[in-house]
Amino acid sequence: MFGDVEYNEQRLAADYKRVCEAAATVVGEHPCKHYTFIVHHIPPGGGGLEHLNSTTLETTRNAYATEANYKRFMSLVAHEYFHLWNVKRIRPVALGPFDYENENYTHMLWLSEGCTSFYQEYILRRAGFYTPDAYLGIVASGITEIENQPGTRIQSAAESSWDAWIKGYRPNENSANTQISYYSKGSVLGTLLNLAILSGSNGQRNMDDLMRLLYNEYYKKQKRGFTDNEFRQAAEQVAGRKLEDFFNIGVNTAEPINYDAYFAPVGLQLVNLASKAQDGFLGAATTIANGKSTISSVRRGSAAYNDGLNVGDEIISVDKVRVGDDLLRLISGRKVGETLKVLVNRAGFLREIPVTLTQNPLVSYRLEPLANQTAEQKALYNKWLYIK
Ligand SMILES: [Zn+2]
Repeated sequence: MFGDVEYNEQRLAADYKRVCEAAATVVGEHPCKHYTFIVHHIPPGGGGLEHLNSTTLETTRNAYATEANYKRFMSLVAHEYFHLWNVKRIRPVALGPFDYENENYTHMLWLSEGCTSFYQEYILRRAGFYTPDAYLGIVASGITEIENQPGTRIQSAAESSWDAWIKGYRPNENSANTQISYYSKGSVLGTLLNLAILSGSNGQRNMDDLMRLLYNEYYKKQKRGFTDNEFRQAAEQVAGRKLEDFFNIGVNTAEPINYDAYFAPVGLQLVNLASKAQDGFLGAATTIANGKSTISSVRRGSAAYNDGLNVGDEIISVDKVRVGDDLLRLISGRKVGETLKVLVNRAGFLREIPVTLTQNPLVSYRLEPLANQTAEQKALYNKWLYIK
């Protein structure tokens, strides 16, 4: 524990234990004799790095100050700890023995990182840190996050993994329009694969069985990583059926996912609570400095995008009213189809650009019970969420 920080040692040790024990039930075998957590409490603080028998966690000195911070930190503990299996031992061929001299290309960072993100929350649910409802909220907000990013319709999870070296690690102002994070999409895919295995096996197996199969077959027996095809075969074997929709749509394309097909077997449906579709939507984010509002990103398909506002434009006025730090207030309440006259300073030249507001495309999902759930759906729901 590095850094001047206050914490309740007894509680923290007990909670580490809960997380580690729940994580160890996934594969069911622990390959380490000792495992060391090295925790740095330093600003800005965020993230971790996995090793074979240890991890370094970066967090803030406020990590234990509130319940929300505490759970977020435990979620980081679970993530990095689970990596001792997933990625350090259960891994695609490209990720080991690790070549530290060169870029490593794989289509499966959505599995190595994204499914570790899936497991960090699933482990906390199993260890009792989240109620079933809280867990459903986390799953739904993960789906909301990816569905609200335009890049999710452009880049697949497999491409996002492959292009990490040339795109993911080099983000720019257009990244959100053309890319999706293999962490966030991969975490959602982890949830869907878990559900597909659960329903395909009538509740007999879940994602743990896939992790165990990969660990035993490739890490222990063959002492190597697995290829894309070997992973798919293993997943289909554990699910007891072909997973065409999951791989052909979910992993390998940017096409919309039929979420309800995955959630129906556990008696749930995804409901969009967003109610602002009729509010006019501009789609430009700005940064404010020295009293100037400058566009920092433009959302693909939005009014700003369609009508030609650019990143770097300083917005001077809207309908002849000077814009300071109040752009959002100026356009709030304006309706879809209204046209604004936006005066911008672009590279030193003033120009007035008519911008016609579009519909607000943002979604806000929640998972809700289907009417008339069957006994089978309820039983599978309880298995999914470890409700005894
Ligand atoms: Zn990670």
